[in-house]
Amino acid sequence: HPVMDKILVTGGAGFIGSHFVRRLLAAPDITTVTVLDSLTYAGHRENLGEAFLSPKLAFVQGDICDAALVDTLVAHHDAVVHFAAESHVDRSFFAAGCFLATNITGTHTLLDAATRHHVTKFVHVSTDEVYGPLATGRADEDAPLRPTVPYAASKAAADLIALSYHRTFDLPVCITRSSNNYGPRQHPEKIIPLFVTRLLQGENVTVHGRGQHIRNWLHVDDNCHGIELVLRTGEPGCVYNLGGGTDLTGLELTGRILAACGAAADRIEYVPDRPSNDLRYAMDCTRATALGYRPQRDFDQGLTETVAWYRNHPERWAPLLHAEQPTTPAGACRV
Ligand code: NAD
Repeated sequence: HPVMDKILVTGGAGFIGSHFVRRLLAAPDITTVTVLDSLTYAGHRENLGEAFLSPKLAFVQGDICDAALVDTLVAHHDAVVHFAAESHVDRSFFAAGCFLATNITGTHTLLDAATRHHVTKFVHVSTDEVYGPLATGRADEDAPLRPTVPYAASKAAADLIALSYHRTFDLPVCITRSSNNYGPRQHPEKIIPLFVTRLLQGENVTVHGRGQHIRNWLHVDDNCHGIELVLRTGEPGCVYNLGGGTDLTGLELTGRILAACGAAADRIEYVPDRPSNDLRYAMDCTRATALGYRPQRDFDQGLTETVAWYRNHPERWAPLLHAEQPTTPAGACRV
């Protein structure tokens, strides 16, 4: 196996990155985990919390577009796991420039440094949204990329650039594409924490259109397990779909959240659909399964634990409810 004692994790103060950092810190063979995170509205040192007690963890506040900083950091690490991104679809409708800068230019900056310093593995964390909507069937890793929203288009661009660095420079790149994650510490702008925190405050929740959009919900621990497998054993140049969670329509998801919060169905308000709200995403995960990937977490149990986290930690999300929003036309998109 490639040497990977020292790992650079970008975006480690965000939702998924902070779970992944804990997983790496628990691995006996990994000696150093350095987080590079610029702490945008979505990144918080508190997400790493007790992980800071580990002598293995170092934290650097900085931008992945800062080529000099990235070069220095990559030079001192064996492998890179790249989570840092602008990640909220609705923001990408109004602030696409930030998405292109971080998701495309930032990824390119990291790939350049990783090539110069011959890292043993570069895992680029991506999304099922790059495949775009599928009326039927499942996208395998060779399916065409048909992103429909600026967020997904910026991730697809980054995926293609990453793969080109494998072909052109033999950089050992792997890409993971996961479905929608849920779990503790997700920013309250995302649908599950948004609904949970609204219900905990006695407010209503809003369902877009008729709530028929299908998404696959994967517990963040399952995604992080898949990413670790790909880091350790993924074949360079390969993409790995990480899905296999629970498929739910928006309305079904809302019902599960209402139940987990002990709220009644009259808390639902219907609002007009948002732009380009893809009807269905679905992935084939055979390739990751061959590495040993098996989502373990039961959705209702994971959701109950997630609700408990938000119930027990209002100090973590209440100050974020009024995070700066890009300008939104009235009624356009809140979820
Ligand atoms: P997040 O928004 O919670 O975290 C992103 C982190 O990146 C934050 O800590 C932020 O401060 C940091 N960051 C943003 N711009 C930066 C920059 N220019 N330089 C350095 N740091 C920067 O996102 P998340 O939900 O944890 O997603 C992590 C990754 O997983 C993203 O690449 C996202 O596209 C991908 N992904 C997420 C999901 C999901 O359901 N959340 C699903 C599939 C893929």
